[in-house]
Amino acid sequence: MTEIDSYWRSYIGGRWVDAADGRRRTLIDPATAESLAEVALAGQADVDAAVSAARACVAARALVSVRPAERLRWVMGIGRELAARRDRAARVLSRDSGKALSEAYTEIDGAIRYFEYYGSMADKLEGTYIPLGDGYVDYTIPVPHGVSAHVIPWNYPAEMVGRGVAPALAAGNAVVIKAPELDPLGCHVIVEAVEAAGLPPGAVNLICGDGPVAGAALVGHPGVDHIVFTGSVATGQSILHAAADRVVPTVMELGGKSAAIVFDDADLDALVESTRWGIFMNAGQVCSAMSRMIVTPTVHDEVVDRVASLGQRLRVGAGIDDAELTPVVSASQLARVTGFAERAVAAGASTATGGTVIDRPGYFMSPTVLVDVDPTDEVARDEVFGPVLTVLATDSAQEAIDIANGTDYGLAAGVFTRDLDRALWTADRLAAGQVFVNEWYAGGVETPFGGIKRSGFGREKGQEALRNYWQTKNVGIRVADPR
Ligand code: NAD
Repeated sequence: MTEIDSYWRSYIGGRWVDAADGRRRTLIDPATAESLAEVALAGQADVDAAVSAARACVAARALVSVRPAERLRWVMGIGRELAARRDRAARVLSRDSGKALSEAYTEIDGAIRYFEYYGSMADKLEGTYIPLGDGYVDYTIPVPHGVSAHVIPWNYPAEMVGRGVAPALAAGNAVVIKAPELDPLGCHVIVEAVEAAGLPPGAVNLICGDGPVAGAALVGHPGVDHIVFTGSVATGQSILHAAADRVVPTVMELGGKSAAIVFDDADLDALVESTRWGIFMNAGQVCSAMSRMIVTPTVHDEVVDRVASLGQRLRVGAGIDDAELTPVVSASQLARVTGFAERAVAAGASTATGGTVIDRPGYFMSPTVLVDVDPTDEVARDEVFGPVLTVLATDSAQEAIDIANGTDYGLAAGVFTRDLDRALWTADRLAAGQVFVNEWYAGGVETPFGGIKRSGFGREKGQEALRNYWQTKNVGIRVADPR
């Protein structure tokens, strides 16, 4: 077992500090249900201090008065410092979140990549010159929002920090991160890299606190100019209300109920491999998980047999031992996920495999494949956020698309076929922010990611996402004729 530090502080104004009232939260190891470490538990006073530190950084123009090349070096430097701590970061993240060590390494590498990718754009944000004829000079300047608040979910805490904080800094914003209360430590290790990279005090601040307390205090804070939220629809709605009260721009990356359409000519080996990552990686706690499969009847039984057998073969264990099926994050998440499976079976679904808690310490749910489900059933409509795949059948391509599009969500979707015409026809009709063809999660840091409908709005990742982090200021100048 990796030993990890027993106590982790907040980072405010360039210093590691206790909570103002000294409170701490005990973090639980999801693989053992035993306590792992403590973290300073932020309340209103800590949120005030973090926002003040970020405001002071903005007021001092510490991130925008320098040459943009300096900002580039700072942001890319965070990536380099994180790379230097890669082992520590991955091991801490794996123990804290429960995810497999190899997946924690992938997540940390992703975070490093965000700092590299967006850092390298810090000196390429340019305005425009707008011709207005003689007597005028008119130009635009990309200006940062100011203080950007980042409310982070527990399923990919390190990746979400990289994804939002890197472009925010590149564009010249100061940041306050509200780490998830269940597994904040991946965020802490990134902020250790921020400190080592030598950013100005207050440029990045980190607190961990309960959502309804510290999270709500942050998003409603008068000193916050911009909110980036990744999490559930319900929390997103409450943050949107807070943002509306103060007319603050937001980016909303919310949940999903993403479906793969499987045609009879699909490469089933590729499909099974995609299922491994699509629904069983990180115990299915992925916003764009492949939680539904809509399969042509001629291959339905074979697909069900193969994905059920995959689920049965997965090596179950602690993330730090790099198991293939790792625990869900908490006892309440386990109860939530198993509740979905139990209600589905009570409503008439059959389990091709799984459906139960695994009898061992920690929070393990068996890899689950459900069949005989109606597309309108709860388990086919709502986000489960666990290792639960629902397989539906239809022989009509149009009906498959209607089922795929028939939820409130629109984060991701996929199609598996060897027929290019069919793939493109289907991709055009799937209502989702991204469509994966023949490989679930095809894409990268470079490719825009985000949802439609209740999956949210605004895009993260790719060059397009940088646009979330600045606004245009236009300067119009009347120039007199000197003759
Ligand atoms: P959550 O909404 O419960 O919590 C997310 C964050 O919001 C946490 O930091 C939490 O403390 C905070 N929070 C909770 N209540 C708050 C409030 N009233 N005001 C301000 N902040 C508050 O979500 P979760 O359970 O941590 O994460 C799972 C959800 O996140 C799933 O729905 C998943 O699909 C979604 N998610 C989406 C993406 C994406 O990119 N679209 C990525 C990861 C996770």
